[in-house]
Amino acid sequence: MRLAVLGTGYVGLVAGAGFSDFGNDVVCVDIDAAKVERLRRGELPIYEPGLEPLVTRNVEAGRLSFTTEIAEAVRGAEVVFLAVGTPSAHDGSADLSQVLAAATAIGRAMNGWTVIVTKSTVPVGTAAKVHEAIARVTDHPFAVASNPEFLKEGDAVNDFMKPDRIIIGTDDERAQDALRHLYAPFVRTNDRVLTMDARSAELTKYASNAYLATRISFMNDVANLCERVGADVEMVRRGMGMDQRIGPKFLFPGIGYGGSCFPKDVKAAMATARETGSSLEILEAVHRVNEKQKGVLADKIVQHFSSLKGKTVAVWGLSFKPGTDDTREAPSGVIIERLLEAGARVRVHDPVANESMQRVFGERIEYFGNNYETVTGAHALALLTEWKQFRRPNFKRLLELMAEPVLFDGRNIWDPKEVRELGFTYYGIGRR
Ligand code: NAD
Repeated sequence: MRLAVLGTGYVGLVAGAGFSDFGNDVVCVDIDAAKVERLRRGELPIYEPGLEPLVTRNVEAGRLSFTTEIAEAVRGAEVVFLAVGTPSAHDGSADLSQVLAAATAIGRAMNGWTVIVTKSTVPVGTAAKVHEAIARVTDHPFAVASNPEFLKEGDAVNDFMKPDRIIIGTDDERAQDALRHLYAPFVRTNDRVLTMDARSAELTKYASNAYLATRISFMNDVANLCERVGADVEMVRRGMGMDQRIGPKFLFPGIGYGGSCFPKDVKAAMATARETGSSLEILEAVHRVNEKQKGVLADKIVQHFSSLKGKTVAVWGLSFKPGTDDTREAPSGVIIERLLEAGARVRVHDPVANESMQRVFGERIEYFGNNYETVTGAHALALLTEWKQFRRPNFKRLLELMAEPVLFDGRNIWDPKEVRELGFTYYGIGRR
């Protein structure tokens, strides 16, 4: 099939490359000319495991290309995906300006029957708004469908190529057939395509992200209670997860969720409820707990050293989770800001996100390409992202390099007993 994908960010680039890998002809469009120029040179604008070979082999095969010209991409495409951004507006609702501007541009460019598909995360009722925006500028027949994307950064290629489910939200049968046909190769052994109306599809995405965020905030609340009652959240988590109704995934306490999805999607779901005159009370609490949790590790650091003036804190991990360079809404930003306010010098290392953080903190902090260099002369080490390579460091080397042996483990990846026996002071989240 011939496809166009508008927006070449984390979702659009993975989707465009993934569709082309099944033999489709895909043109990816972005209004960011510098991004398109980099892609044309064979450089990826983002870090995502497995994405580079996928893009390269499909570009080389002539199935995948990049442009800034929407009209060129949309003309002749049967299916056009919207994968543009939907950031938070001031009141927490989703800002649809990118989606509606792109929809209008598609309407102006299309020259025959087309399915326009929202892959961006959009509030209930957006498919209808996209329909209106297009109908205003074209006489060609078309259909609009919602097809929310569930990939997770850090494992996006696998998630896209082997999705748990594919949701097709439209009542238009021709659009349903086109999307079923497109997705058939992704679900050959087990049909996991679910067709529903657009409003239900739109809400399924928010409800899924909101539920995952709820599990995280719930465990953070439990972890904080563990500290007050002398229990160990790592044991509580394991005990809970063995119940098959609960399951072990997404029960990890830490320093709060971040990234470009959970924070904004939780706020947008709350805004949708407010617009109907109701509220999503659980989500209000989930959001409050998360905001508080982002300060928990910084509080522990400040309390340990009654003053941080003249102290150096080393930070391992900046991205909001391992496997990505995405630092949008990452708890690391809040924690580093607090440490700087308290007078600390901050030295950081992330395997791939140093550059993203440099755009936020500039020269206010020091960046290192190696995790051991970061800790030289440091009075504390704060672990903020659980990258694999941080799980089993050479602790003896840390003892030699650090000015004071104090570990603040924001992701509970180290064994408190082991590191205490080696001579460290250890702080985790909700542990004994
Ligand atoms: P992103 O910010 O990385 O990329 C969006 C891209 O759209 C940018 O490159 C921007 O220049 C481009 N763009 C904006 N207006 C355009 C237009 N008119 N025409 C062409 N391109 C345009 O965003 P993202 O992280 O890929 O997320 C995109 C959407 O997918 C959001 O709604 C997000 O909530 C949703 N989503 C994201 C993830 C994720 O893990 N990042 C997962 C599932 C769903």
